[in-house]
Amino acid sequence: MRPIVARIDTAALAHNLMVARRLAGSSRVLAVVKANGYGHGLARVGHALRAADGYAVLSLDEAATLRAQGLSHPIVLLEGFFHPDEIPEIARRRLQPVIHRDDQIDALARARTEHRIDVFLKIDTGMHRLGFAAKPWRAALARLQGLPQVGSITLMSHFARADEPEIGVAGQLAVFNDAAQGLNHPVSLANSAALLRHPEAVELGPETAANWARPGIMLYGASPFPGQTGADLGLLPAMHLESRLIAVQSVRKGEGVGYGHLYTAERDMRVGVVACGYADGYPRHAVTGTPVRVEGRPTRTLGRVSMDMLHVDLSDIGNAHVGSPVTLWGDGVPVEAVAAAAGTISYELLTALAPRVRIEET
Ligand SMILES: *Cc1c(COP(=O)(O)O)cnc(C)c1O
Repeated sequence: MRPIVARIDTAALAHNLMVARRLAGSSRVLAVVKANGYGHGLARVGHALRAADGYAVLSLDEAATLRAQGLSHPIVLLEGFFHPDEIPEIARRRLQPVIHRDDQIDALARARTEHRIDVFLKIDTGMHRLGFAAKPWRAALARLQGLPQVGSITLMSHFARADEPEIGVAGQLAVFNDAAQGLNHPVSLANSAALLRHPEAVELGPETAANWARPGIMLYGASPFPGQTGADLGLLPAMHLESRLIAVQSVRKGEGVGYGHLYTAERDMRVGVVACGYADGYPRHAVTGTPVRVEGRPTRTLGRVSMDMLHVDLSDIGNAHVGSPVTLWGDGVPVEAVAAAAGTISYELLTALAPRVRIEET
């Protein structure tokens, strides 16, 4: 067996959920498990996070996977339905679609459903991605309230810059509070960044206990904030990407290493070859110096990442040999640091884990 494996720590998932719950106060926690549980495996994550009050996904398939695990929690469809044909299954499985366009309300009005569908009504407070603008939003609410097909209505919005210390949520929150003034509906605003930094976006509205926080990335142990790791926030990494050295090379000073000879040996040195490449989901743009551990000791990557392999510096790891364990991210190697070295974010690395990587649960 090729030695690369993603070890998923289900106890870490449960721990991170506890952290989110503490921050959510009396609000409920909707565990965001889209993108295959941020790459950790949807069914596995669904189970590990079953203490959450509900789940958020994108598709009927994902919702069906959770239901097939015997999970009867509320499930929110973050992009609503894509076609009216989906409405009967939404009703049957008791899913809660986000409603963000008029034609979705038209479709609900035409639908014959066994029972009322609880919905999330999305208002665009400045992200300009999904949702009704401030004015049409009131009309959409009135229409939904008049439909026999519709049950409870949660008012929802999403922040564009909750992770930025200087900007935060103030502007969008003001737009939301203005739009929702005087209404007696549950509210759902906070992603991980808002939950961690902006309690004012969590405990609000007259129905706080019915509100929903929507943490995603923090449940997996990573930080939404630039320059800060999950560990800094009291979170535990849920994914450990591990492999082994499959070759050790002696390279002379001045010789090139890997494709394009992107790295040139600064001295005579030993270089390790790890069974992990971009086809495993390791970022090809990770530069020389990206953190990695070999035999539990910190070192760096060298040169260009290949499809199936990458190089590491063994200068200070005298006991490294073929078969030595390597941590690509996880324990002692923050996924945020690897992402930053590749010009991206932890979200992309976790969700891009390739199907060919074996997953083990710990
Ligand atoms: C993905 C997503 C979240 C979770 O965001 P994190 O930054 O991972 O916490 C919350 N709400 C919506 C609408 C999303 O699309």
